[in-house]
Amino acid sequence: MEQLTGKVAFITGGASGIGLGMAKAFLAEGMKVSLADWSDEHIAKARAQLAGNNAVFFVKANVANRDSLQAAVDETLAHFGKIHVLCNNAGVNGGGTAASPDFDDWDKAMAVNLGGVVNGTKIVAPIIRAQGEGGHIVNTSSMAGIVPLPGLAAYSTAKYAVRGFSESLRMQLAPKGIGVSCLFPGATRTALVPLPEDDPSIDEANAPEFLKTLWDAMRGAIDPEDTGRMVVD
Ligand code: NAD
Repeated sequence: MEQLTGKVAFITGGASGIGLGMAKAFLAEGMKVSLADWSDEHIAKARAQLAGNNAVFFVKANVANRDSLQAAVDETLAHFGKIHVLCNNAGVNGGGTAASPDFDDWDKAMAVNLGGVVNGTKIVAPIIRAQGEGGHIVNTSSMAGIVPLPGLAAYSTAKYAVRGFSESLRMQLAPKGIGVSCLFPGATRTALVPLPEDDPSIDEANAPEFLKTLWDAMRGAIDPEDTGRMVVD
């Protein structure tokens, strides 16, 4: 899609971090953005930042729940009329280690980080196709989808799967005029990985080694607006 002005992007996890960075990059190109997010707190903060901008629409949605996501897409279509770009970006940290006895944590990480990408695609890709104006799907994987992160087995598994899903989707949709990209961000300073200096409830001294390594990477991490700009660069 060469001409971005006037096009509509639907961004999951759009009220914070990289998703919000994507939104700002799209807005700078003259696009409209629908920011779908599960967090009332993040939506309130983003709404305050983007107040008065008629090209922005906020909608609450849980990407792991198909009915919730469908409702958010329907509200977006009622508001903007079309969706040309889908960013399957919502993600959660965690999921525990491969040997952890906690299944709930694993299921949640997979349902959001992988299930959310599949749900978004299955709901929005037919809409983009039916419009007949072309479009693009951007899936946010991670460096952890290229090199596994020890201690974050579910996160890495889901991000590897997002990479495979995107590649398959790209081959399927390219002949139909819909591009597919997969982003592999490196360490980006967002709400995803809270640092001990920002969250007094974190017991830094007794934290596992992999988390200490992750925190060190996050302390030197880049700004989410720089990562988000990858969608237009
Ligand atoms: P973030 O926490 O700032 O933003 C993620 C957003 O997703 C939040 O606003 C959160 O409320 C929302 N969200 C979480 N679960 C949701 C759900 N079920 N339904 C709808 N929204 C939901 O974190 P971020 O770093 O901007 O993460 C964005 C994406 O980038 C994620 O997929 C993450 O895995 C990926 N990523 C981040 C980094 C990093 O270093 N921050 C690196 C690589 C990849």
